[in-house]
Amino acid sequence: MSKQIGSPSRTRAIMNQYGIHAKKGFGQNFLTNPDVLSGIVRAAGITKDDNVIEIGPGIGALTEKLAQAAGEVVALEIDESLLPVLDDVLAPYGNVTVLNQDVLKANLADLVQTAFKDPTKPVKVVANLPYYITSPILFALLASQVEWAAVCVMMQKEVADRLVAKPGTKDYGALTLAIDYRMDVKVAFNVSRKSFVPAPNVDSAIVVLTQKSAALPVSPFNEDRLFGLIRGCFAHRRKSLWNNLKTIVGKDEDRLGKVKEVLDRLEIDSQTRPERLSLVDFINLANAMHEKEL
Ligand code: SAM
Repeated sequence: MSKQIGSPSRTRAIMNQYGIHAKKGFGQNFLTNPDVLSGIVRAAGITKDDNVIEIGPGIGALTEKLAQAAGEVVALEIDESLLPVLDDVLAPYGNVTVLNQDVLKANLADLVQTAFKDPTKPVKVVANLPYYITSPILFALLASQVEWAAVCVMMQKEVADRLVAKPGTKDYGALTLAIDYRMDVKVAFNVSRKSFVPAPNVDSAIVVLTQKSAALPVSPFNEDRLFGLIRGCFAHRRKSLWNNLKTIVGKDEDRLGKVKEVLDRLEIDSQTRPERLSLVDFINLANAMHEKEL
């Protein structure tokens, strides 16, 4: 039996055999550390009862591990030239479908209904993400309205730090809040840059997102307005909350007076920095501003 795809020697052999040169433009850094590959599958808690979507199978290192653990795997790969390679190396696994597709253009809700033999099984997303589009992919997964049983993804460590940041820290911001609104987040483990071919310039982390275990104590009247406010408040994070709000509502004295009333009522110090506000603070602020037609 041949060695697993993600072993350093097999990866080298596959790359030589098919003349593969990792494409920077597609964020191609292939995992060649079998312990990390097993660790990802474990962190995602994959069982035969799961359907798995993999984003960016590359030459199939993680796909193979997923095929061994999951019920079915659907892998979306943007790089057409890797499809014949994946066809060959994954031939022993009858439960894998590889689609030549850009994940950012895919209709994920449709895909989970049509691509799996049994669409009633829980669906997990597992991926060593292309780092150049980590945030857009996370937003696409959240916007899809699919109730992912888990999203277990490798990303640049700096981005993982932002996802789990606490209020008042430099990493806390719009991305933290957007994820925190929908999902529970934990970092499963860190991964050295030496685990990839070619080695990226940064270290990485495996992040696991799951559906929120506890409902938020308040709900926004309007999600778009909430996230518009959050983005606006973090537009100039060195400025005070007040100065950012002034940019959002404009210079009109009457409107600014209403903002002041809202902040006083919510007992939020206008001179604080936006990163001091929790998600619940932002929801209360967005709702109160909505009520005042701000
Ligand atoms: N899963 C492989 C591994 O762990 O060795 C490869 C991971 S590599 C970091 C990222 C993969 O995502 C590459 O195969 C790349 O071609 C693919 N990719 C990049 N942009 C993509 C997109 N928009 N949609 C689907 N796949 C994409």
